[in-house]
Amino acid sequence: MKDVEVSAGQVLGKPGSGFLQITTGFNHERLYVGIAASAIIRHCLETALKYSAQRHAFGKAIIEHQAIQLKIAHLYAQLTMVDAATRELLSLSMDSPEFHLKVSAVKIFASQWTVQACLDTMQILGGMGYSRECDIERFMRDAKLFEIGGGTTDMQYMVIMKGLIKNQNLFNFSYIR
Ligand SMILES: Cc1cc2nc3c(=O)[nH]c(=O)nc-3n(C[C@H](O)[C@H](O)[C@H](O)COP(=O)(O)OP(=O)(O)OC[C@H]3O[C@@H](n4cnc5c(N)ncnc54)[C@H](O)[C@@H]3O)c2cc1C
Repeated sequence: MKDVEVSAGQVLGKPGSGFLQITTGFNHERLYVGIAASAIIRHCLETALKYSAQRHAFGKAIIEHQAIQLKIAHLYAQLTMVDAATRELLSLSMDSPEFHLKVSAVKIFASQWTVQACLDTMQILGGMGYSRECDIERFMRDAKLFEIGGGTTDMQYMVIMKGLIKNQNLFNFSYIR
């Protein structure tokens, strides 16, 4: 917008630093993705465990099939990694260049793995997973937003690369001239 007049009492932040304010907000949003991703993957894991133990097909509970077990174990592995990475972010100063890079790195995988976790859980639940009777289809849409909102996955790669070049001394990567 051009030529918009705002009275002094209504100015938010410092004039001319809007972009910086937005990018600071992005870091909060990206951290939130890690936290929300952990919650959704945990819900997928609990739903998959419960449903596959109850659901019987061809004479046995589907949890007894190795193909189902592999998917559920994968959900646990994804949860472990996203949870650990998000906890590390929470231990860093949000103003540090390290946080700025790591939060983008975590968002890339947390978002992709959450979408995949929802798809795998839907597959384990079969037709029930696709139906609105079950909440997984909604979580899948929520998870897809994580790959788009707060800067798309492509943008996270660009943020990382810019940060690696700008802070090469900090990260001790000597190969960037
Ligand atoms: C459900 C939902 C809720 C949202 N909530 C909010 C909100 O509360 N506040 C808010 O401000 N915004 C919100 N957004 C908007 C969101 O932040 C944007 O959709 C997102 O930043 C992507 O911008 P865009 O849609 O304009 O896509 P585009 O910028 O048009 O990008 C389209 C595709 O092109 C790729 N692309 C674009 N430029 C490049 C490039 N230079 N190099 C490589 N690839 C590139 C992108 O990665 C993407 O894959 C929301 C979006 C959704 C879907």
